[in-house]
Order: sequence, then C-alpha cells, then structure tokens
Amino acid sequence: MNKMKNDKEITYYKVGIYLRLSNEDRNKLNKDDDSESIKNQRNLLLDYINNHPEFLLIDEYCDEDLSGAGTYRPEFERLIRDCELGKIDIVLCKSQSRFSRDMEIVEKYINNKFKEWNIRFIGLSDNADTENYGNKKSRQINGLVNEWYLEDVSNNIRSAFHSKMKQGEFISPFAPFGYEVSLYDNNKLIIDPIASSIVKEIYDLYLKGLGFTGIAHYLNDKNIPSPSLYKYRKGIKLNIISNRPREEIKWNTNTIKTILKNEIYIGNLIQGKRTTISYKNHKIINKDKSEWIKIENTHEAIIDKETFYMIQIAMKERTKPMKANGIVHNLSGKVFCKVCNRYMRKKNSSKHEYLVCSNNQNGYDNCKNKSAFRYDILEELILNYINKKIKLFYDLNFLETEFVKKRKNNFTKKINLLTKQKSELNNQIVKTKNYLKNLYEDKVNGIINEEQFKELIDNYNSDTNMLKNQLKFVNNELNYYTLKESNKIIKRTLDKYQQLEKLNRIIVDVFIDKIFIDKVNEKTKTRDIKINWNF
Ligand SMILES: [Zn+2]
Repeated sequence: MNKMKNDKEITYYKVGIYLRLSNEDRNKLNKDDDSESIKNQRNLLLDYINNHPEFLLIDEYCDEDLSGAGTYRPEFERLIRDCELGKIDIVLCKSQSRFSRDMEIVEKYINNKFKEWNIRFIGLSDNADTENYGNKKSRQINGLVNEWYLEDVSNNIRSAFHSKMKQGEFISPFAPFGYEVSLYDNNKLIIDPIASSIVKEIYDLYLKGLGFTGIAHYLNDKNIPSPSLYKYRKGIKLNIISNRPREEIKWNTNTIKTILKNEIYIGNLIQGKRTTISYKNHKIINKDKSEWIKIENTHEAIIDKETFYMIQIAMKERTKPMKANGIVHNLSGKVFCKVCNRYMRKKNSSKHEYLVCSNNQNGYDNCKNKSAFRYDILEELILNYINKKIKLFYDLNFLETEFVKKRKNNFTKKINLLTKQKSELNNQIVKTKNYLKNLYEDKVNGIINEEQFKELIDNYNSDTNMLKNQLKFVNNELNYYTLKESNKIIKRTLDKYQQLEKLNRIIVDVFIDKIFIDKVNEKTKTRDIKINWNF
C-alpha cells in the first residue's frame, strides 16, 4: 500500500469517499426514510474518518440521481481513474451496494483491480473490508444479494406499474393532447376544453374530406397551436428534444395521423407499448401489440365510437388526394360510366369542374359516353336523392322495414365470414409460434446450422408480420361491420341529418356504393343516373 509517512513515523492513508443516490432509494415505499440520502452517507463517512487519525480525506466522489446499474456514473469513473493513478489508498463507502449493485463491477474492481493497484475497500454498514482476507466470501455473498435486490426493486416497480395499467390508471406524467391529468387523481385523465375542441375539429375536417396534409395546412394557417406548442404555452415541461424555437413547431402529417388513429379519444387507454430491456440496460424497446394493455372506457371520450371506426375504415379506403390542397372530392371513387363501367374522371375547365368517362381521355376514344357531366350539378342531385331517401325512411318507419332487415342480414353474413377469418388467422399465428419452437430445437440439436436458422427466422418474422397485419385489418373490419349491423350508424345519421344541407364525404360513404352516369339519350336529350345504395 502507498503510505505517506511524516516525521513522527505515523502512517497516513489517502482516503476517497464515494457517495451515491439511486433510483431505488427514490422509489422506496417509505418516502420519509432518507437514511440513504447523500447528506447522511457523507456524515457517516466523515465521522468514521474523524475517528481514524491515520485517515486523510483526499477527495469526495458523489453521483446523485443515478441508478446502481447500467447508467453512466461520471463521479464513479473519476474515482476509478484516481485509483489507477495512485491518488488514493482507501475507497470508503457506506456499503458495498453504494459502490455498485452490479456483481460484475464488484468483481472487476473490489476483488481484482483494487488488489492490483494496492487499494483497500471499506464498506461501513456491511463490514466489507478487503484488508480482512476472510472477508472476501461474505463480500461476494453481499454482492449477490445486492444484485438480487436491484432486480427485485426493478421488478416491483414494473409490476406496480403493470397492475396500475391493468386497472386502467393513467401512469404517464404527460396527458395526450386533448386531455389533462386530474389535479385530484394523477392517474385519471380529464378533458382539456381547448385542446379537445381542436381534436374534434381535426375529426370534423377529415369527415369533410380533407387529408392529413390538408388538415395540417388548415390548422397552421389558422394559427391553431400544435400539441407540442400547446403544451409549451401551458407551461408543461416538454418531453421532446428539439433545437428549433418552440414557436416553429407546426402541425404536420404525422401529428394529424396520430390523432386520428388514437383510441384514447374514444375513452380507451392503451399503455405499456414500450419497456426497457432490463434493470441493467435502460434502452427503450417497443413491445409487440399483443402485449399492450388496453382498457376500455377509462375516461370521457372526445369522439364517438361510430365516427372513430368509420374514420379508421375511411383512412384505408380513401383514394389519394387529387389536388395540391389535399382535398378529396365528395364523390371520388364512386362515379362510373354506365356504358363501359370505367370510372368517371374529374376534369377542370376555367369555369367549372366536370366528370368524364376515363375511357375517353388521354387520346383514347373508346366509349360512346362522350359528354362531360358538371360536377357541382351532380353533387346537388346526389344531395337531393339522399334527402329524399332520408325522408322516405322516416315515413316508412325505416328501421322496421324489409330494407333494413335485408341489410342487417348482409352484415351478419359479413361478420360471420370475418369471425371465421379471424379464428383462422389466430390458428395460423399459434402454428407459426410452434414452428419457431421447433426451429430452436432443430438448431440446438444441430439439425440445421446457424445460417439456415437465420434464414428460417427471417421467413418466420415476415410471415408473422403478414399474419398480424391481416389480423389487424380483419379486426378493424369486424368493428366496422358490427357497428353497421347494429343500425346505430343509420339511426345516428338519420337523426343528425334529417335534412342535409351540404354533402360530405362520410355521408356519401354511408349511403352510396356506386353512381353510374349514362350517355345522353339522343331523343330526350336527358341522361340517366343510377345509384347503388348501401341500404
Ligand atoms: Zn365509358
């Protein structure tokens, strides 16, 4: 050991004290217990040094806010450097667990490097002392217990969060846009009146036919604050890292898409999408969707379920925006030529917009249906038809009619089909899981080599992804048709729009399957319009 000797032949030892406050301490059940606080650790160690005149305090190394494993500990690194440079003879800690709870680190330094560098380690509360040779075994056992403790605490925190999520309690400190965390119960979401009105407007704009980009432009033009800007203005700490000035954070396609897809707005809470690898490795990984924790009706909805599911389907079906401003016209994808069955294309002239048979465009001249149809007139006609239909429904006490019974039957058939598909998909997913198990066994038994294994795993992954996507799609369709079958949409639509004043995209989707426009009748100079109704 490097010893400093003075004239009176007293041997002095250079002591470095190491202090650490960890997450484990912070998450302790008894919040008032601060026996592990930095102040208490320091007092204990200084007291010990004062009682040992041969000990000279050289430096203090203090890591606050840092956990016992995995995380970078700058002061710990400095301590180790100084040890290696011979600046210290003794490392003094409250306990070995303060030094580290990680067995590997304890082995590496206390039981190996320190020996090599002639350094003595003392942990006061657990009587760890490397100068005492017989002490090694108990130190190692302590080390093991410490590591188990860390794993335990971490698991306890995880399971506490897990059970909170299972009970539908909101555990993040940040409420999603449209909500705020209740002041009286920080596991409960309540509606934020201003932000929720913006969410409603976004859903409305989508119903009116605007696409993601169109909605983003619209909101930015009206200077409506984006979720991050709104949070910032409300004075809530941002959990995003951005170098741009806050005022520049604008709405974009992704923020809109995220809001339109988030089930939080129909009152469902989905949590546990991400986790850390382990108590030692804090890297965040995404969990498989099957492991997410979804609880329904945990808080007040901003959007009704019918609208939400209609929009989920519409997002899949909606054709690409035709115009730069992102507007899909109300009848796009619905209008066809009655002569050749091709779709009718939109064509703009300086005055009006028209629909023409797509078989007669770009140099083709294959269809007898040659005249264009004015788009605004068609919209007006369709609106009238829909209004007549609505009136008729009311007159006939619509929900009791054969129409509806037939329609309901069709949906029931569709649902049965989808349910069958769903269970087939689930079976296939189970099968691929068994396949994976067999694959591992084959690899372990040497039946296949590493390369073959990797290739088969890749195949497996793409197969499962495909199956899961299909399942997702089938589930969405099921939700949609179940709603349709219940007639809730019709009833709501009828109640809401007893007399429609303006056409919108969703109404068209609800009422109309296809519209056929015939050629001009040479005798009567009129044109036939045939509508295939959804019901
Ligand atoms: Zn045609």
